[in-house]
Amino acid sequence: MKITKRNAALLTALLVLAGCSKNSGIGGSAGDASPTTLAANAQFAKDLKLDDPQDFEDAKRGFIAKPSGKITMADGTVLKDFDAYNFLAGPAPDTVNPSLWRHAQLNANYGLFKVTDGVYQLRGFDIANLTIIEGKTGWILVDPLTARETSAAALAFAREQLGNKPVSAVIITHAHADHFGGVLGVVTPQEVAERKIPVVAPAGFLEEATSENVLVGTGMARRSLYQFGRDLPRSAKGNVDTGLGKDVAYGAIGILPPNWLIYKPTQPMQIDGVDFVFHNVPSAECPAELTFSIPAKKLYDGAENLSQTMHNLLPVRGAKVRDALRWSNYMDQALEQTQDAEIYIGSHNWPVWGKANIQKFITMHRDVYKYTHDQTVRLINAGYTIKEIPDMVKLPKSLESFFGARGYYGDLRHNVKAVYQFYMGNYDGNPANLNPLPPQESAKHYLELIGGSDKAVAAAQTAYDKGDYRWAAELLNHAVFGDPANKAAKELLAKTYDQMGYMAEAATWRNSYLAAAQELRNGPPAKGPSKATLMEMLLQTPIERFLEAMAAGLNGPDAEGKNLKVNLVLTDLKESYVLWIDNAVLHFKNAPPAADANATLTLTRDIFVKMIAGTAGVKDTLLSDDLKVSGSKIDLVRFFSLIDKAPGNFPIVTK
Ligand SMILES: [Zn+2]
Repeated sequence: MKITKRNAALLTALLVLAGCSKNSGIGGSAGDASPTTLAANAQFAKDLKLDDPQDFEDAKRGFIAKPSGKITMADGTVLKDFDAYNFLAGPAPDTVNPSLWRHAQLNANYGLFKVTDGVYQLRGFDIANLTIIEGKTGWILVDPLTARETSAAALAFAREQLGNKPVSAVIITHAHADHFGGVLGVVTPQEVAERKIPVVAPAGFLEEATSENVLVGTGMARRSLYQFGRDLPRSAKGNVDTGLGKDVAYGAIGILPPNWLIYKPTQPMQIDGVDFVFHNVPSAECPAELTFSIPAKKLYDGAENLSQTMHNLLPVRGAKVRDALRWSNYMDQALEQTQDAEIYIGSHNWPVWGKANIQKFITMHRDVYKYTHDQTVRLINAGYTIKEIPDMVKLPKSLESFFGARGYYGDLRHNVKAVYQFYMGNYDGNPANLNPLPPQESAKHYLELIGGSDKAVAAAQTAYDKGDYRWAAELLNHAVFGDPANKAAKELLAKTYDQMGYMAEAATWRNSYLAAAQELRNGPPAKGPSKATLMEMLLQTPIERFLEAMAAGLNGPDAEGKNLKVNLVLTDLKESYVLWIDNAVLHFKNAPPAADANATLTLTRDIFVKMIAGTAGVKDTLLSDDLKVSGSKIDLVRFFSLIDKAPGNFPIVTK
């Protein structure tokens, strides 16, 4: 996983947006299910009551109408094709885990649904749900999706079906982009100001929303292509679901600063004539998150702390690890808060009706996280490590048999590693792993020992034929990393990942394996993320976050021995920063321009953000009339040329 091409700026942000694949791999296409895969999937079908009708009834309940066609961006890029998942009908094909197939079918129920009197949900316009609550004067919208295009389409569809009501308030449950990025598609900042529209969010929302992924956004965006399977075909040999819903809409992402914050554990509030009770539940699923009840409707919205799947304690794309114990404790509180609830809704998937069903739903989630936490801790204290415990922890039957908390998005083994990492870090305590060789080097040594990559492929073929895919993948990964020219190794590794994907119950694992196979065959994406669609959000991001990200892009070896100081004057913000390089570290402070600086750069926030986000070239910007440079232009160019820009399309499985 090497990258870093010299250039200028850096930065990035939330989601992905990498370009399409260039054919630089070995070619070929996804294979059929092997006998081992067929047997494993048949066992799943036998062990689980897949024909349990309750979830199917709930996922369809209250259906009003469904949209057709596609949602596109202004340039014609398709963000959502409502027909893309039409193949999800009938019994599970050989190439999809039957439990995941069932879940994928449930998530394929899209359209407008009536949840109860005065409460509607738009599902399947994006990965998350847009909820409408009727107020006295208009609609209170909860979680306006990822992109301006999808939220606008969802609202327009609701108006077609339910009549043309104005938006009277917006509630954003948490700081992940799939719940706020589309806000500018449903209201404008002018409307919010003129009509005094409440925009309700949890405390810390703006800071978390704009910064969570800025620093390592490029790496996360690249890896999220695996988790969400964005570039996979929608088919029985490709993407069938993400666990939380269907596609993430990679459209125009925006943000609105909230004007009402929820900061107390329990905070009653009336919005447009509707009495809400909000709960601030930070640092479990998201650093800033709220849940709420509407007592008069006996309704509880669990936001994303509660979905129809086990969630991630650590996403496959990478993130800061989440606190399983705190999450479980929030579920305990939710049990108290939902004593009278007859309806549960959430930010993803479908609702639950009936007091007993809701209490069971929450209890199961509480206990899945607590069991995962406690059993991992027990085994840590018994001396087991991050590579052993995932194979040791199995859920008890009572938890395992509950579909609503099975691992369709999160995965128990990955969550066990997350708990280990939360307390102990990645190191297992064994000094053999204190300073191990990097993967390419150790792979070369293994191949020497085995007698070359062809021998490794032959041994892996034997493992593959026996259905031992984990061992085959390990061997073949050494063969590919140690001898990237060996085409047979890549072919067999791709075939192995096909099978691992076909067997996976978690959509995130399936997508990861199948994306890996696709990249072995077709090469990594030709282009990395573009930040152009994130600009509305980036312009709300505090300047310090860009400067931190800029500092983290400084090429240390190149900066060694260099001492440069630059003043940054942001005319519209009436703020200035002094940036300087010392000990190969880029420092900054909010201060008046320094007299001894090599250069002073005077510009607007807008131009600075575009320059740093890479949507405007640094050299072009520095030479343009949009900014003023005093002092040495050469030093300024030297300063910016020390900052790497990661292209964001680094190889993951090919070298
Ligand atoms: Zn979400």
